[in-house]
Amino acid sequence: MAELSPMMAQYFEIKQQHKDEILFFRLGDFYEMFFDDAILASKELELTLTGRDCGQAERAPMCGVPFHSYESYVARLIAKGYKVAICEQMEDPALAKGLVKRDVIRVITPGTVIESSMLQDDKNNYICSIYLEGDKAGVCFADVSTGQTYATLLNGAAVSGQIITELCRYNPSEVLLNEAMLSLKDVTAYIKQHMACAVELMENEAYADAQDALNDQFGEGWPVSGGLAKDGPAGFAVSGLLTYLRRTQKHGVERLRTVVSYAEAQYMQLSPVTRANLELTQTMRGREKRGTLLWVLDKTQTAMGKRLLRSWLEQPLVSAPAINDRLDCVQALHGESVQRAEITETLSHVFDMERLMTRTVYGSATPKEIYALAGTCRQLPQLRALTESFDCPQLKALAVQIDPLTDIHDRIVSAIDENAPSTLKDGGVIRAGFSPEVDELRDIVHGGKGFLSQMEAKLKEETGIRTLKVGFNRVFGYYIEVSKSFTDQVPANFVRKQTLANAERYITEDLKNLENKILGANERLLVLERKLFEELLFDLSAQLTRIQSTAAAVAKLDVLTALAQVAADNNYVRPTVDEGSELLIQEGRHPVIEQMLKGSLFVPNDTTLDCAENNLLIITGPNMAGKSTYMRQNALIALMAQIGSFVPAKECRVGVVDAIFTRVGASDDLSAGQSTFMVEMTEVAQILEYATRKSLVILDEIGRGTSTFDGMSIARAVVEHIAVKIGCKTLFATHYHELTELEDLLPGVKNYNIAVKKRGDDITFLRRIVRGPADDSYGIQVAKLAGLPDEVTERAKQVLKTLDAASQSNKRVTQLDFEALEAMNSPAVPSEMMDKLSALDVETLTPIEALNFLYELKKTLDN
Ligand code: ADP
Ligand code: MG
Repeated sequence: MAELSPMMAQYFEIKQQHKDEILFFRLGDFYEMFFDDAILASKELELTLTGRDCGQAERAPMCGVPFHSYESYVARLIAKGYKVAICEQMEDPALAKGLVKRDVIRVITPGTVIESSMLQDDKNNYICSIYLEGDKAGVCFADVSTGQTYATLLNGAAVSGQIITELCRYNPSEVLLNEAMLSLKDVTAYIKQHMACAVELMENEAYADAQDALNDQFGEGWPVSGGLAKDGPAGFAVSGLLTYLRRTQKHGVERLRTVVSYAEAQYMQLSPVTRANLELTQTMRGREKRGTLLWVLDKTQTAMGKRLLRSWLEQPLVSAPAINDRLDCVQALHGESVQRAEITETLSHVFDMERLMTRTVYGSATPKEIYALAGTCRQLPQLRALTESFDCPQLKALAVQIDPLTDIHDRIVSAIDENAPSTLKDGGVIRAGFSPEVDELRDIVHGGKGFLSQMEAKLKEETGIRTLKVGFNRVFGYYIEVSKSFTDQVPANFVRKQTLANAERYITEDLKNLENKILGANERLLVLERKLFEELLFDLSAQLTRIQSTAAAVAKLDVLTALAQVAADNNYVRPTVDEGSELLIQEGRHPVIEQMLKGSLFVPNDTTLDCAENNLLIITGPNMAGKSTYMRQNALIALMAQIGSFVPAKECRVGVVDAIFTRVGASDDLSAGQSTFMVEMTEVAQILEYATRKSLVILDEIGRGTSTFDGMSIARAVVEHIAVKIGCKTLFATHYHELTELEDLLPGVKNYNIAVKKRGDDITFLRRIVRGPADDSYGIQVAKLAGLPDEVTERAKQVLKTLDAASQSNKRVTQLDFEALEAMNSPAVPSEMMDKLSALDVETLTPIEALNFLYELKKTLDN
């Protein structure tokens, strides 16, 4: 076999260390890929596959991307789940002796991305590390791009379910598992089927030096409170993450300075299904933001605020005092529209400091971005003063956390040119006046021509040769040209360099020096500008903690201001939040649907739910009446209150709920290979297992997926179990009218229905919730509304009549009693009168007509 070319040998040596990654191998102005990497990348990125001589008979398959636009290519590979190793030239090829040194400076993976072009502004990008030991799991989530890190310990019999819940809360793009995790098949299967994330198995040795890794990162102290032991599963989870980051990042890992411990009990429990059903951050159908609660609430100005709002939504609080702290701020901001507008305006100039600081620590921030950071600092004194000015202790406390960072502003502005470019390669980064050396080099680079003409004039005068010229050519450099006729007058210090047909060219010591100065100046200038810029990045990195905590305070201010703005725009009220057990809503609205219904008005509805008399509401009414909307609106109002938002209602009291569970019909999971009914029952089982008295449960038409009697029996048994054994606030929509009899049989159960107006065969939806069971399911009328042909609906009516007649004989006693009771309570209204009333067009009625109509009505009644 022939010898590999030296460069190819180098390639193989490096590739050997990065078998799992696509290797981007820097060759001059390109990153090249070879062999299998090239074949794969050419397919995935639609690049032309070429070949390169590698010293052997076969040419190496090759493809490449220009180095200045590599990010977009890497982003596409990452999005497809690949990892990319970036191999750089470690020395200047022009200065290198022999083969240029190359090394991998970074491995980019879905969970370790820091480039803004590969990240979504409004979303955190989490990497998760899970360490299972026995029945305990340490779980750690970090956003490498912002430095935020969280850890918790999960334990107990249901550890799999808890892990899945945490995964859904943070939705990581990469997950690291220890070997023991492979035994939790339900978790690994869930990740595979439901989560679009990369998975990395960490071998046991990766945790061997866990304690040292933690000490190196955080010092001897352990920044994590809340009973998370450094040498327990949570500590190992954090150390596994650090190990992985060191392997992939080479530098910048110090960015993770603190780990925030959280207890699950700190946040409202929201199962994955509930998150999806309530459409908090993405819609069920299109998986879009539009049409979600986040879409309604997101009036934030900064990327940091957007990410924080999303995480508030994903983690509602359960402590009434903590919630009221947020509500106090929102109320204060809500009350002062002028100051609020000023804050909003100021925030709109604030840059994503959080992620920029990561790139600063990693050394990849651009001059333009750093200048923008100064622009952001300029807003801080104003933001602090505005926040301080509110008569609200919580806002005043927040103001104190906004460090004006004037020193940082001044440091940046004195060093960086205001038109600094977004790369270092062409210079123009350092402000004039900052460094005398830079200024001098710039003079030479820009004034080089001036020096030459000065020298030419001087030499002409000294020698008296009128035709003397100073010039430049690529091969010989700078020269003095004297035509043949004057060569005898050339001074002795001129050294001959080149002979032309009718002239001689010379060089002098002075000219040589000038040449070095000019030719080297640009290079030296670029090196010096880079050095000064890197010093600045280093200085800024040293201020990381200050900048970071200011960024966090600004993000919080942004979210609170946005919530106040939404409250004002959409006419929300402050909910009363306490530790009680009531959910009382007057004229509540569905926050999303009311925004989607352009033109037509949303009909508000009241809600009375508690842990006593009004514990479980059975809601009946025809399809399309508004049952699902009503139930979700109550869940969303409780959830909004617990993130600290005002709510769409006229008045509202929320006793904090520890969890919301929903089982909403129609969401099926056929893609995962399970039948709809099976999925439905699994979800109901989970609700029955995990709901407590403090939970809020929403069951929407359960039992649909099986035969009527089966379904009804299950639904009834579930209601009984919840009402008697759990006692949590529950809304239960059903198409089984038979269940309405439970009101008389179980304490705390109340019937409600969503009213419709019937006129002959037609119905109109009134969207109002009223006490009592619906009197009919109106299936045929709804079918007619939907456009089923008259022929078919007529025939359906006939069939129904026969069925009703058949069932009349064996109708159960309880139901008969119930109907009798209803009849006694509400005197029958003659249907003729109802028909007349509903036919009336009140809008166009004149007073006289109204009087006549009343007279007519009374006559009918008297008859
Ligand atoms: P159901 O669950 O009873 O079949 P939905 O809750 O799905 O009915 O409501 C059907 C449609 O009715 C919704 O898409 C919405 O557009 C409209 N709707 C529901 N409630 C209201 C309301 N209170 N005000 C106005 N429109 C409503
Ligand atoms: Mg429904």
